[in-house]
Amino acid sequence: MGKIKMVTPLVEMDGDEMTRVLWGWIKDILIKPFVDLKTEYYDLGLKYRDQTDDKVTVDSANATLKYGVAVKCATITPNAQRVQEYNLKSMYKSPNGTIRAILDGTVFRAPILVDGITPYIPTWKKPIVIARHAYGDVYKSVDGLAGSGKAELVFTDRDGNKVTKAVHDFKGDGVVLAMHNTDKSIESFARACFNYALDMKLPLWFSTKDTISKVYDGQFKEIFAKIYENEYKEKFEKAGIEYMYTLIDDVVARIVRSEGGIVWACKNYDGDVMSDMVATAYGSLAMMTSVLVSPDGIYEYEAAHGTVTRHYYKYIKGEETSTNPVATIFAWSGALRKRGELDNLPELMNFADRLEKATIETIESGEMTGDLVGLFKKDGVKPVKLSSKEFLTAIAKRI
Ligand code: NAP
Ligand code: MG
Repeated sequence: MGKIKMVTPLVEMDGDEMTRVLWGWIKDILIKPFVDLKTEYYDLGLKYRDQTDDKVTVDSANATLKYGVAVKCATITPNAQRVQEYNLKSMYKSPNGTIRAILDGTVFRAPILVDGITPYIPTWKKPIVIARHAYGDVYKSVDGLAGSGKAELVFTDRDGNKVTKAVHDFKGDGVVLAMHNTDKSIESFARACFNYALDMKLPLWFSTKDTISKVYDGQFKEIFAKIYENEYKEKFEKAGIEYMYTLIDDVVARIVRSEGGIVWACKNYDGDVMSDMVATAYGSLAMMTSVLVSPDGIYEYEAAHGTVTRHYYKYIKGEETSTNPVATIFAWSGALRKRGELDNLPELMNFADRLEKATIETIESGEMTGDLVGLFKKDGVKPVKLSSKEFLTAIAKRI
């Protein structure tokens, strides 16, 4: 049988350390034997980012705007120690931050579930996807110490007119904080959430605290409601999924009682906190995928974890490691499926399904990487720890 053909190339963003090693193996063992792989390759490995003064990162994001679908390997975000280690010309910004700023997207994190690894909340049978707004609020705030005196919030319009609101009349020491968001960013966030929910055919829940923060959180609620009514209501009804707005405390209670199978849209801080809670409850960071969705329907798939540095240092010493490639495999399958959908290639979409199914079946039959062995409990199946390469080979046999 011939290999599966592609039409439009995927934007391929290579990365660093152990995940870069896994990247090559995944392509060689799991993809290229089955698919006539077409990619436009960008090397986001730190060495090449440095050689190009980080231009390659910007180029890869622009290529994503052009083609619509990218798959990204984990990359190092340099700190002072990395500047030394790689002898860098500059302490480059996080590639994810650069790409996000160009694509203007929202990040969705979803767990990969397998039979045998039970979430700490055992009623969760289906994935809970957290959609985190990644702009503003307390992450772009101004704060300071206050002494005895008045704290005020002043807004000056372009003509110089001022509106002043009293924050607090301090009788002693205290603290103040001011934060903001923009309608444009909230609108992008809303559209990305509605598009993703439609894509996954999952209901969307959005939560804020608008009973307390009547204007600020109220604006989020209003913008979501307006965009839903005008642009998505019919599509949601046709897809048979619901959009629900409710208070954050209410969602927390409902989520714990739920079976999962929900996209939960969170404001920036709520998403930061809740995504770690949800990820931990599902068992392992190495089983968590992440996709950036732009309001114009552009997709960039990746694993939620980093470059697994500790394993890489073992690898370069010649040791075999048992690093978990599952989230990176799912980044590839997600991107290939989306490419298949956009180019109307049912065979490619089918391959993505087969690849994911083979990966899950391999684990469920007891063959897995070391990080999962301690979490795995299934009657009649004894978990066996494989090296990354053995695990990939075991998956390939099942495709
Ligand atoms: P990390 O690479 O996610 O690894 C943290 C630890 O989690 C590992 O040491 C390992 O634990 C475990 N782990 C993570 N992924 C695993 C996998 N696939 N298989 C098995 N175990 C896994 O995070 P980090 O050490 O904080 O960061 C390393 C580098 O990654 C940094 O340079 C950072 O900038 C970068 N980073 C990139 C991204 C991204 O590109 N999206 C995200 C986060 C971090 P054990 O060592 O106990 O086995
Ligand atoms: Mg966090």
